[in-house]
Amino acid sequence: MRYLGSTYIAVAILVLTFVLGAYVDVRNEDMHVRHLGINTRLERIVRLEQELTSLLSGAVLEQKIMRVSRYDSVNENLMATVSAVAELSRELNLSGDISVLHDLQKGLRTIEARCLRHMRAGNWLRARAVLFEEDYVLAKKIYEITTESVITALTEELAGKARRLALMRTAAYALRVGALGLLIWVGLMFSRRLSSEVVEQARLQKTIETANEQLEVSVRQRTAELEAANHQLAALSSTDALTSLANRRRFDEVWEIEWQRAARLSLPLALVLIDIDEFKSYNDHYGHPAGDDCLRRVAATLAAEARRAGELVARYGGEEFVLVLPGATAREARAFAERIRAAVEAVAMPHAHSKASDVVTISLGVASATPRHGADAEALLKEADVALYLAKHQGRNRAMVAV
Ligand code: GH3
Ligand code: MG
Ligand code: MG
Repeated sequence: MRYLGSTYIAVAILVLTFVLGAYVDVRNEDMHVRHLGINTRLERIVRLEQELTSLLSGAVLEQKIMRVSRYDSVNENLMATVSAVAELSRELNLSGDISVLHDLQKGLRTIEARCLRHMRAGNWLRARAVLFEEDYVLAKKIYEITTESVITALTEELAGKARRLALMRTAAYALRVGALGLLIWVGLMFSRRLSSEVVEQARLQKTIETANEQLEVSVRQRTAELEAANHQLAALSSTDALTSLANRRRFDEVWEIEWQRAARLSLPLALVLIDIDEFKSYNDHYGHPAGDDCLRRVAATLAAEARRAGELVARYGGEEFVLVLPGATAREARAFAERIRAAVEAVAMPHAHSKASDVVTISLGVASATPRHGADAEALLKEADVALYLAKHQGRNRAMVAV
């Protein structure tokens, strides 16, 4: 705001100086024209005055009245020139001197008129005496001196005016320089402020960028933490706490997906239900914590066997497990089940009260099918259950395929 005010002031001063300069130029020009006009007319007055004198003195000396025939026209010319000078010098200080000059001329003309009258009367001596009488000579001398002083006064007055105009011009230049200086100062201040604002803006932008980067980093961290927590939650919600295998919920999900996939691709899908033999008596004999341990070891053995992509071992409930084998035919699944059975037996956890063996064993019910569109997934589970029942019925520690 302060700069804007200064700019207005500087522009106003500049305009003022231009107006002042124009005024000075016009006045100067006018003064010169007037000076020239007055000067040439004053010179003409002197010349005409001399001409009048020489006309008169020539006529008197030669005693020829004819010699003054031009007197009246020269006199008229002279009077007109004096009036013009009076008109031109109206506003000047020398207008008083001009009227003195006028009066002196009138005096001279009166004396000359007397001289002319004598000439016309043929009284040449009287006429001559008039021309040489002291009054006339003195009046002429005064007239000449006055004319000289008028010219000098005019020159001085004009010189004074010229000095004043020069002073005004100098003042205008000084003001113009001042205004330009003010404008330059405003420009400098403005550019300094602009550059400081630019620096401030850059600093602010940097701060915002840094804050944004920090925000992005913390958002990324938070997102990663949330994702990890979500993964953990998802894992927890689909994992069995005791055995760390997939839980029943997870099995249901996978089973549904695999069933749909197998139906879509017309591929076989096998299911193996696994049940620990005589586990109740194991618990009864070795205690519930030992039973838990046994569950964990069987689970680990199953997990170690079913490691291929797509294969899933889950805890089905209690001491029962389930194995999903995508792409496996009944024969392949039966072979797989047998391998698992042998693996659990090979762990050789003692089971003193089992009718099936003296170590912990499992019974397995195998079922496989190529699902038709719209076929029931539950049916295969039931088949596997029936096969498991058969395995139990036929003495346990064996794998049976549903027929
Ligand atoms: P079968 O050979 O016919 O399967 O005989 P079983 O004794 O294994 O059959 P049953 O279904 O009667 O017994 C299952 C037992 O498993 C009963 C239960 O106490 C035990 N059990 C179920 N879940 C757990 C568990 O999480 N921990 C322990 N320690 N025992 C469990
Ligand atoms: Mg059971
Ligand atoms: Mg059992």
